Amino acid sequence: MKRLAILGSTGSIGTQTLDVLARHADRFQAVGLVANRSRDALFAQVRRFRPLMAGLTGDGFSMDDIPADLRFCRWVFGPEALSAIAGMPEADEALVAVVGMCGLESVLHALSCGKRVLLANKETLVAGGQLVMKAAAAAGENMLLPIDSEHSAIYQCLRAAQGNPYRRILLTCSGGPFRTWDRQRIDAATAREALKHPTWNMGNKITVDSATLFNKALEIIEAHYLFGAATERIQVVIHPQSVVHSAVEFFDGAVIAQLGTPDMRLPILYAMAYPDRLPTGGTPLDLFTVGELTFERPDAERFPSLRLAAECLQAGGAACCILNAANEEAVGSLLAGKITVGGLYRAVEETLRTLGPMPADTLAQVLAADARARDTARRIIQTGL
Ligand code: MG
Repeated sequence: MKRLAILGSTGSIGTQTLDVLARHADRFQAVGLVANRSRDALFAQVRRFRPLMAGLTGDGFSMDDIPADLRFCRWVFGPEALSAIAGMPEADEALVAVVGMCGLESVLHALSCGKRVLLANKETLVAGGQLVMKAAAAAGENMLLPIDSEHSAIYQCLRAAQGNPYRRILLTCSGGPFRTWDRQRIDAATAREALKHPTWNMGNKITVDSATLFNKALEIIEAHYLFGAATERIQVVIHPQSVVHSAVEFFDGAVIAQLGTPDMRLPILYAMAYPDRLPTGGTPLDLFTVGELTFERPDAERFPSLRLAAECLQAGGAACCILNAANEEAVGSLLAGKITVGGLYRAVEETLRTLGPMPADTLAQVLAADARARDTARRIIQTGL
């Protein structure tokens, strides 16, 4: 029986995690559940899964909010709930599916407590990549398993090659709703248009990121840290069908890819059951129905996010952290209807330019860079672009 602490249990990844967990109740137990503000959804989960600990990270929650029948478990409130539950002694592994870089401390804490981290929160790795990888290496081998579908695919391909070095990572990307749009139309796009993802059904932040290709930009950085890949060894490939979840090219010219239907339950359950493979309850891939797989070169002119990722990796220090924080702020403003997609790109680029190089060798430095980047991005957005 594997005992899991699930951070972000009411979100898109969290609910799908509990779906596969319930399907394999003989193998997995949810011992900790944390949500941000979705109180009623969390209460329903606590009632059903009976964890030992539960938490709400949002402001203003206390024991007064907890119904009498749910007081059987230990409750934690506020931002500390994440680390408290990630490091709880009864959990073997922590599945981190919170949105944004608020997951960083809990990831570092879980690893320092010797727990394997199943990571669906890419912002953590983008903002604190050096710190997270150092903590993962100190915790042991295979202590950080990616849930991001592309990185899970790459992980599976590398495992198939049994430690052989690779030539290139082929990071696939659906292209999002603006794939065929020209630069001008993308610049003028609004949140409503950005929220129409063609193949994946996900939370708002990642859906916007998928439209602007900031999701892919963050994933380039994520792949860099997870697999120690230099920027020039990561090739983004636009693949609108989202069937090839990513691939790895080896030195003999072989390309090993992982294919499947676009269903996050596969990478979630792969990480949970690693190294075993269990049924997810999803529809298996039918190549005859898919019929055709197409691939296109990405266009960094229309999608400056890809160029910014390469520049930030080149710059090092806190550049990736600043990119991530500025993007999070700008996505918030886009969703609030304050800016367009063009404004989002300009806000991120302007924040990077304004702040210049900053260090990211300690958690305090990463948090400081993150805070300054948010302030700066907010100011830039407020004063108009
Ligand atoms: Mg992904």
